[in-house]
Amino acid sequence: AVYTRMGSKVMWECLKQNNQWLALGDTISEFIEEKYSQEHPFCTYTSPDKQNFFKVYFDWMFIQDLRTSFVLKVRRTGPAVGEPNKAEKAKLITDWTEVDLQDLHKDEKCPICLCEFHDEDEEADDMEEDEQILHLSRCGPHYFHHACIMNCYVSPEDSNRLLLDGHLRCPVCSFRYGVKTGSMPFGTMDVSKYQQSLPSYEDCGIIQIVYSFPPGVQGPEHPNPGCLYSGTVRKCFLPDNEEGRAVLKKLETAFQRRLTFTVGTSITSGRENTVVWNGIHHKTNLYGGPPRYGYPDPTYLNRVTEELANVGVM
Ligand SMILES: [Zn+2]
Ligand SMILES: [Zn+2]
Repeated sequence: AVYTRMGSKVMWECLKQNNQWLALGDTISEFIEEKYSQEHPFCTYTSPDKQNFFKVYFDWMFIQDLRTSFVLKVRRTGPAVGEPNKAEKAKLITDWTEVDLQDLHKDEKCPICLCEFHDEDEEADDMEEDEQILHLSRCGPHYFHHACIMNCYVSPEDSNRLLLDGHLRCPVCSFRYGVKTGSMPFGTMDVSKYQQSLPSYEDCGIIQIVYSFPPGVQGPEHPNPGCLYSGTVRKCFLPDNEEGRAVLKKLETAFQRRLTFTVGTSITSGRENTVVWNGIHHKTNLYGGPPRYGYPDPTYLNRVTEELANVGVM
């Protein structure tokens, strides 16, 4: 068995196609845990009999079979490392203040449960944490029960699990608290530049982005958990000028937050269970204008900047 320095048992598991977590065994767990605790970004493992040859990406918590390129999710069980507990969760929404009942208008209602804050049956003094009233302090005068707002933020099935997209929008005005993250499966984003120019950007070079996704098994955040999805490779282009480089920086942030792609049904091919775009438009052709997803397209950089802002990438 594998133990941490604190003496607790640790096990590494992967999510199999039947949507069950399978323990990777003591030898492999021990190997992975050692690299993980040394804060390596990834590790590569080969078993003596060469039957196991894989790479684990710790940023992504994916394991890739290096013989087939296939990817599976991995998880680490045992003592939590950095996993917020219930008390810490409340701190994740950092921009709120507690509100005194006396400071609110007597008809003020919680917009989530539609109950009035002034409830005669309740003694204000022994109010439980759940009945506390919060003001999300970076938007308008919007007040909620502590419990109501927390329920928007944690999984309905498991109150100890944060919703995967890790952010909260004010239910009244949609102001965004925290950082939105997506469900993009494991993949890579490679950026290169070359001397050639795009229509309407003749005075600068081209930035090329290549997104690559190996096939894998869908996780709980995908439409068909446990089912296979097919991978994809997409090549995209930006002008290598100030505006294009600003968009590139935001696209890199979107990628790190797993927002660029997701798993679903392709609109163009109708293919199910595949890696698809997720609402942030890219230019996949150099030429041909908007009908061919190419240039020239004078408003493209502004549009994609707006799409990025809509998912919180500024
Ligand atoms: Zn409420
Ligand atoms: Zn608000």
